[in-house]
Amino acid sequence: MTENSGLRFAAYSDIGNSRQVQEDAVLAEPPIFAVADGMGGHAAGDVASQMAIEIVAQGVREQEVGLLESVARANRAIYQKSKSDPAMSGMGTTLTALLVSDSDLQIAHIGDSRAYLLRDGALERLTEDHSVVERMVRQGKLSPEEAAHHPQRSALERALGVEEETAVDMRNLSAQPGDRFLLCSDGLTIHLEDDEIEDILTEFDDPASTSRRLVREAVDAGGMDNVTAIVVDFPGARSVPAMTLTPKKKRARRIAIAGIVLALLLVATLMARAAVSTSWYVGERTGRVAIYKGIPESLGSIELSRVEDQTRIEVDRLPELYQERLKEGIRVATLAEARDLVAELEKLSSELPEVSTTPPGGNT
Ligand code: MN
Repeated sequence: MTENSGLRFAAYSDIGNSRQVQEDAVLAEPPIFAVADGMGGHAAGDVASQMAIEIVAQGVREQEVGLLESVARANRAIYQKSKSDPAMSGMGTTLTALLVSDSDLQIAHIGDSRAYLLRDGALERLTEDHSVVERMVRQGKLSPEEAAHHPQRSALERALGVEEETAVDMRNLSAQPGDRFLLCSDGLTIHLEDDEIEDILTEFDDPASTSRRLVREAVDAGGMDNVTAIVVDFPGARSVPAMTLTPKKKRARRIAIAGIVLALLLVATLMARAAVSTSWYVGERTGRVAIYKGIPESLGSIELSRVEDQTRIEVDRLPELYQERLKEGIRVATLAEARDLVAELEKLSSELPEVSTTPPGGNT
């Protein structure tokens, strides 16, 4: 990790588990940072990526041309070498470069390496893959999931050095304090989802351990390709949203909450079912006394009782105290008790409505 003009940055690369050659090349010399991922038979891929890095670095160092023209020069040089040297025929390279000038940033991009920005705790992808599968995703011919596992996912539509002239995506943006940029080769993104990348970028602080961790996770997840990550931090506290849960933790929390809710619902349902099957109460139904099986409650819209017996006793004709209690439901232990209570209520209702004595049983 090095510091320069307040930038903290680090680059880390690994050959991976299945490649014999390291064809990724890295540039981390402020104000320019770049990842190039070379391709081509034999040793040509690493030549192309090295050429791209060196020519772009030189262009920026000498400041005689801008970033776009430096990239165009690299394209022409690689193309000419591939035409003049049969061993280099067909070589090419991706290039994703970040040029920093105070808070003004420029990104030049061709191929399927990527640039990401972590700002305010959220990860944003700044580049579009120039791959056949990503175009098919944009056209709706493939789902992102299909693309991620497509055998031709590394087939590029555009790369540096393949044609004499090529289109390069250019993007300008302004940095904010605490911004964290990631440049990486596809060896990282074929193994790590964006939310996993976001997790690591959020979790680790210094650029060296962050870039090392990113690469390590991709290698451990298979390491099918060379893996490269450059992390560039702008000075300032890395702002995080009020909720500092990372997506992985958010997902885990969502699953946990769903599990708890399900468990509670299950318990409530079982309790309700037990209550309904063993409890009785006497209540009111359309103005008359009724015996219910269950409890005088509801679970959301689910009533936890059903009418067992509807009597002809009018609730209005009962003492007020009973009217109130019947509205809430008078719980009893058995159907026999419910019938006893109904018999008493029947007696009460046949007496004068002004009766205000303590009801039988004495319990108010
Ligand atoms: Mn690659």
